[in-house]
Amino acid sequence: MDNKRRISRVVRIGRVPIGGRFPVAIQSMVKAKTSNVPAALGQIRKLQSAGCQIVRLAVKDLADARALKKIKQNCRIPVVADIHFNWRLGMEAIEAGVDKIRLNPGNIYKKEEVVALARAAKLKGIPIRVGVNSGSVRRKNAGLMKNKVQAQEMVKSALEYIKLLEGAGMRDIVVSLKASDIRQTVIAYRLMAERCNYPFHLGVTATGPLFSGVIKSSIAIGSLLLEGIGDTIRISLTDEPQQEIKAAKGILQALGLGHFGPQIISCPTCGRCEVDLVRLVNDFEKKLGAAQASGRGKFPKELEVALMGCVVNGPGEAAEADLGVAFGKKEGILFKNGKPVRKVSFRNCITELLKEIRGKKR
Ligand code: SF4
Repeated sequence: MDNKRRISRVVRIGRVPIGGRFPVAIQSMVKAKTSNVPAALGQIRKLQSAGCQIVRLAVKDLADARALKKIKQNCRIPVVADIHFNWRLGMEAIEAGVDKIRLNPGNIYKKEEVVALARAAKLKGIPIRVGVNSGSVRRKNAGLMKNKVQAQEMVKSALEYIKLLEGAGMRDIVVSLKASDIRQTVIAYRLMAERCNYPFHLGVTATGPLFSGVIKSSIAIGSLLLEGIGDTIRISLTDEPQQEIKAAKGILQALGLGHFGPQIISCPTCGRCEVDLVRLVNDFEKKLGAAQASGRGKFPKELEVALMGCVVNGPGEAAEADLGVAFGKKEGILFKNGKPVRKVSFRNCITELLKEIRGKKR
């Protein structure tokens, strides 16, 4: 994977570097109003403990912009201000000490305003994300589009904006090209990858509720990451922000681009299965998550645990994982590092696995 990676310019978002060969960073966005500092900080804390590395907040008015200072003072992860329409809010956010600002070329585009923002950000060493969104690409760039903004128009819009920023001496630029159509999103990033070496923030916009949102994001973001494109990701979901982090970790872990704890491999079950594997896997996932969140005991970040319903494929999969159980009737064989070690009962299986995981040296 790393050989294929698009090596972009390194840009630092506070203490988190993105681009180059740095790991793909996970980010999310606060859903509370920014001026409601306690609510915003409460969400940030939850995001932090879920594993969020960069957090973005909407800046809708002056009260939001002014709240950023307090939020920044009480936040351990880098803070990004999301600015639309009013360039002066961007200036306030820079003054408040945020670690990055996101500008939308569709609604802040006057040359003098963009240049003023670029100069102010450069003076403070703050990067700017050129955040193109298909829904707000300016009609000037939209050419013959009908209902759907074309990926080429998104790229054109980003390139024009980058030119303005570069003209003002800004080089710490991050680019995003989000559409709700996943093909359009993928094409836009691919095209952009041929046109610049700035790091990319990947995302699909307005993906919908949890299930469909995770599917759309996994396809688009996963495809790009497989091609080596992408330096930071945000999974937009109409759900709790912590779910975005869970989904982001799942995508990175499935691609082998990050390890966030033991990964469960389990069969779908069929008529050969003689135990309630679905219940067991769900219970195991919950208990594993709770045990990790409790902070008690050491959990290896990189470990595969296979739970298989019968002896057809079970022993093979269980033996390939670091730990595994292939079930028969009411009991199963526990495998460790490819070797069968002992029998475990269905009832005690989870406790036994958790003990094994805690004791596993990696
Ligand atoms: S491992 Fe066994 S129970 Fe599970 S799906 Fe395959 S054949 Fe069915």
